[in-house]
Amino acid sequence: MRKPIIIGNWKMNTNLSDAVVLTTDIKNHIGSLDIDVVLCPPSIYIYPVAEIVDRGPKNLEVGAQNIWFAEKGAMTGEISATMLKGLAKYVILGHSERRSHFAESDTLVNDKIQTALKNNLTPIVCVGEIKKMTESKNRGRPTKIDLRSDIFTQLKNTLKNINRIDAEKLIIAYEPVWAIGTGNAATGAYASDVIEKLRDIIAKKYNKSLSERIRILYGGSVDSENVREYIYQPEIDGVLVGGSSLKSKEFIRICKEAAGRE
Ligand code: PEP
Repeated sequence: MRKPIIIGNWKMNTNLSDAVVLTTDIKNHIGSLDIDVVLCPPSIYIYPVAEIVDRGPKNLEVGAQNIWFAEKGAMTGEISATMLKGLAKYVILGHSERRSHFAESDTLVNDKIQTALKNNLTPIVCVGEIKKMTESKNRGRPTKIDLRSDIFTQLKNTLKNINRIDAEKLIIAYEPVWAIGTGNAATGAYASDVIEKLRDIIAKKYNKSLSERIRILYGGSVDSENVREYIYQPEIDGVLVGGSSLKSKEFIRICKEAAGRE
């Protein structure tokens, strides 16, 4: 059984007091839920957030939004995996905003995954197609999944040289670029069909049983109103939430829905 996981990506939002209030609110409401919850604040707030999370329930953890692939050195403005020791257990890698605004390639993302794994950080690896696939009119599923789509290339490239034992530690976030921050979320059926194909690729590279154990999430304009669309899809193991993770009530509702408690 794959345990649902809800991840909040705060991006370049919040100030110190917002970060403290948001974390405290979430910490006080999710302890009884049978799901994992990860908060990914801007790097400057990881320390205060981690201090609050340390005093919180076991199912609440901290994630970073990015790392550089080297462990130290002349990289002004970057943070490394070693710096996150004792502060964060997860790191988002390959987010589409990093790929588009900072020109991050699959190779760089792969290097970062290797470094994260070496430093016991769980990589949350984002992949997603830029252009929406053609959808059937009535059921909101892709009419045909194009296996040459950028998303499948991304997955294959980011898994390069990652052995079976390490692959099992990854979390994959399926985040169609056209759905991120647009209010134009994919339907649960669409996301589920693509995720099924991602599992096929993982099964081909490793084996079926590993592909069934790895957690794959959906992300892209998820809120408390549409989250049910995803969590009842057997292929989808949770959600990566951007905008809606910045309001504690909204994020807590998403967590409760995912735990079947709302
Ligand atoms: C994201 O940035 O990973 C994301 C899913 O954003 P939003 O929920 O705002 O679409």
